[in-house]
Amino acid sequence: MEFIDLKKQYRRMEKEIDQAVKRVLDSCRFILGPEVEALEEELSGFCGAGFCVTTSSGTDALLLSLMCLGVGEGDEVIVPAFTFVATAEVVALLGAKPVFVDVDYRTFNVTADAVKEAITDRTKAVIVVSLYGQCPDFDSIMAVAEESGVYVIEDAAQSFGAEYKGKKSCSIAHLSTTSFFPAKPLGAYGDGGAVFTDNEDFYRKLLALRNHGQVARYRHRYIGINGRLDAIQAAVLRVKLKYFPQEIELRQVAAGRYDALLEEAGIEPPYIEPHNLSVYAQYTVKLKDRDKVAEFLNRNGIPTAIHYPIPLPYQEAFSCLGHREGEFPVSERLSSEVLSLPFHPYITIEEQVRVVEAIKEAISV
Ligand SMILES: *Cc1c(COP(=O)(O)O)cnc(C)c1O
Repeated sequence: MEFIDLKKQYRRMEKEIDQAVKRVLDSCRFILGPEVEALEEELSGFCGAGFCVTTSSGTDALLLSLMCLGVGEGDEVIVPAFTFVATAEVVALLGAKPVFVDVDYRTFNVTADAVKEAITDRTKAVIVVSLYGQCPDFDSIMAVAEESGVYVIEDAAQSFGAEYKGKKSCSIAHLSTTSFFPAKPLGAYGDGGAVFTDNEDFYRKLLALRNHGQVARYRHRYIGINGRLDAIQAAVLRVKLKYFPQEIELRQVAAGRYDALLEEAGIEPPYIEPHNLSVYAQYTVKLKDRDKVAEFLNRNGIPTAIHYPIPLPYQEAFSCLGHREGEFPVSERLSSEVLSLPFHPYITIEEQVRVVEAIKEAISV
């Protein structure tokens, strides 16, 4: 059993993807160009954002968003304590201070109250993460941020295609970023990412920042980076995007099956707010005996993952911030309880039954 079965997905789209890659090879236009521009149109159309700028990764998409806002030394950026390292890494990389906030136990996401409490007169932005594929409560978070003149960035690396109150992830915050890392809900065959915004000034600046701050050939207005997407990835993504709406439905079906099987076994399935549609980048449960269960499953050929075993404030890389255990109790508890199960649009009911049976067995021994 695969944790995320990319082979099955490739077999389904093989001919079209091969043709798309060949098209790029024949064109010999490998960086940016028409394939990338077409993808950007299709992505912004899909999620209902005004503008899209694709990037070399989800991490660079976050970095470019902060650069676009002029984040630097002396600034604070609020980030969740419980997320992938990239969310906070880019803040520190620009010389700004990541201000960690604890998350909500039920949804794994930050709340407006936690954000409000962390805002100071140095706060430039808050990065909210739509963890595992579910958006946070944007209405209250946007209200709190706008009250204080703080920008909101959605780190939607795990939630492209998700919905919050009928609006798509990547169309709600001031800037939104996603990742096309192969294992993400919409994955390329290499690294890739994108920034979305409705703000045309941001859009123009992002286009320049992604390409060495260049506004016309060899005219550099900003200090930028090489953050460009390559055309082969764009071509692959354009094929995958066509199948993506159906894959999101398959994800709902598979999640519904896990939900029912787990409930039957007396295990709480992940909580999704009724106004949300999750894309389940991860299907993650909380288990008191997590390590025991994980070991049992892995011994029985069922791959699992822990997203994430250490809250970010306690990572060595952030030790200079001086955080101590006990400061982020919810993140700490989650990091010892969460277990992500094999999940992808093509997982079969037989595989899911096998996973849940194994969990039951692990718990009972
Ligand atoms: C994957 C991920 C990223 C980084 O994306 P890359 O494309 O791997 O750089 C950032 N934030 C979160 C929450 C992620 O899951």
